[in-house]
Amino acid sequence: MGKRFDIMLFPEGKAKAFSLSYDDGVVQDRRLVEIYNRYQVKCTFNLGYGVLGYKQVVDVPGKRRTDISKVEPEEVQELYKNQEVGGHSLYHSDLTALGSPYAMYEILEDKKQLEKLVQRPLKMFAYPFGFFNEEVKDMLKTAGYRGARTVKSMYSFELPEDPFEWNPTCHHKDERLMDLADKFIHEPAFKPELFYVWGHGYEFDGDDNWQIMEDLLQYLQQGREEIWFASNGEILDYLEAFSRLEYSVDGSLIRNPSAMDLWMKPAFGRAVCLKAGTCTEIEDTPL
Ligand SMILES: [Zn+2]
Repeated sequence: MGKRFDIMLFPEGKAKAFSLSYDDGVVQDRRLVEIYNRYQVKCTFNLGYGVLGYKQVVDVPGKRRTDISKVEPEEVQELYKNQEVGGHSLYHSDLTALGSPYAMYEILEDKKQLEKLVQRPLKMFAYPFGFFNEEVKDMLKTAGYRGARTVKSMYSFELPEDPFEWNPTCHHKDERLMDLADKFIHEPAFKPELFYVWGHGYEFDGDDNWQIMEDLLQYLQQGREEIWFASNGEILDYLEAFSRLEYSVDGSLIRNPSAMDLWMKPAFGRAVCLKAGTCTEIEDTPL
């Protein structure tokens, strides 16, 4: 007894989690949501309220002609009801270049209007173009956000040290995608691992490669028993609840004051469920 060296686990004692993050609220999200719902995986869709309903088709050299129109505001609640909606600034602006008053307006107005559509407070944000600085991070915190995604691939399964610099594992088009999936499935996790993939729905049309996502999700099914499929916000909720655990001085009692069951593995012993709102006595049994 005494000092604890517990390892956090995800719900049901799982050590692995998978999450997705897709930006811009494009019309291809309709197909993407159907795929995600079919595989029962969770994605955070980051939208700019001010451009919802905006119509545009683009011709980019080397890609198929692509419709990058945005979904209509009226369909947001129903379309994403099994997924998570996050913010992406009102007009998809570089928030580091706008000047603070207008940047704050873009963040707040986007959040306020999206919250009206989905009828819940938004937790996650994705930096437009991946641009951010300390000032932007502070503005997001002031607006009530609890995390924000970058566009920096880490090629690892680390949980974010700073949720406002949440770096994904990789983009869906990355050539290492399936190698990472293979590693994620087959290598044992000695600490909680998160496989986090991001992109834009329109890219699948432009590159004519929808099969990439189907193949990835099909492949991950073999690990379904060991993987927690969660939205970004669900992961944040879990990490925050875990950080609020209360410990007795000798480490034998752990109280979970949150409303969700939490799981952990003591240094010695089996995975333990710390029930919501209760105090659990931990018996460390040397292996
Ligand atoms: Zn974007």
